[in-house]
Amino acid sequence: MKGLKGKNVLVTGGTSGIGQAIAVYFAKEGANVAINYRSRSQEAEETHAQIHAESGQPMHDLMDEMEESGGRHVLVRADVSVEADVVSMVQEAVDQLGGLDILINNAGIQIPGDSHELTIDSFDRVLAVNLRGAYMCAREAIKQFLAQNKPGVIINVSSVHQEIPKPRFLSYSVSKGGMQNLTRTLALEYAGRGIRVNGIGPGATITPINRAWVDDPAKSAMVYEHIPMQRAAESEEMAAVTAFLCSDDAAYITGQTIFVDGGLTLYADFRTAWSSE
Ligand code: NAP
Repeated sequence: MKGLKGKNVLVTGGTSGIGQAIAVYFAKEGANVAINYRSRSQEAEETHAQIHAESGQPMHDLMDEMEESGGRHVLVRADVSVEADVVSMVQEAVDQLGGLDILINNAGIQIPGDSHELTIDSFDRVLAVNLRGAYMCAREAIKQFLAQNKPGVIINVSSVHQEIPKPRFLSYSVSKGGMQNLTRTLALEYAGRGIRVNGIGPGATITPINRAWVDDPAKSAMVYEHIPMQRAAESEEMAAVTAFLCSDDAAYITGQTIFVDGGLTLYADFRTAWSSE
């Protein structure tokens, strides 16, 4: 894809699922990638074991695959909900890669539960990672883009639940709804200074976050029934659209969220007429 080779990219939550696929995709395009992981470096053994389990792909294999492309790839630790972590993570990525051109705000969590039973701690936790974390990473990246006096790109990995309410996932829906205005407001504020900000809105994607249904054929079939294209997405399909939005082919796109959802945001229940016949 045009304009990705040699770019310095930071991917949050880059050790699993969509984030991992994005990191690998950019590396294959010849970019240098800083992969953010959360767990503490002094717990290295345990961290690696967790990364292996979550990603289904050993970390050294991932790094090997990425090194083959010839870029520089580093691991940077941070809990994106912690301001000091975010500030040092962005600085570390800049120092190790020699600058920053692209930020992918991918790290995200969800905590299900009836909305009237949710604890404030769990509500705050989801907002702190998904929305406040994305803002803090964007803030630090923008400072760096402006200091470099070079163009920059931010992609927020949102969700179809930016648009579709999701009962029992209140904090998640609220966080992704907020992400839409994070994308649009930053896009407007920095459009005149060479910084583009866009989002992708994944539909159901086969990753560890969906472990509740991906390995269960009956539950998967139920999920697919609700999707107009009748299948879930692969993480690589998210990575390809993310890369496009960061490429020079998307140079005139800012403030948009592209839904990559097999038609999920088209209201699948209206496939056949039922409301006015
Ligand atoms: P995943 O496999 O569970 O990966 C989530 C990643 O975020 C992990 O690497 C995780 O690292 C990281 N993370 C969580 N909390 C973090 C924190 N505080 N600081 C830094 N990293 C943190 O999930 P996924 O499906 O790839 O999700 C990636 C993004 O796509 C999320 O924003 C999610 O909302 C969005 N999305 C996914 C789907 C889907 O169907 N899969 C649909 C719509 C949107 P640890 O393991 O170390 O916590």
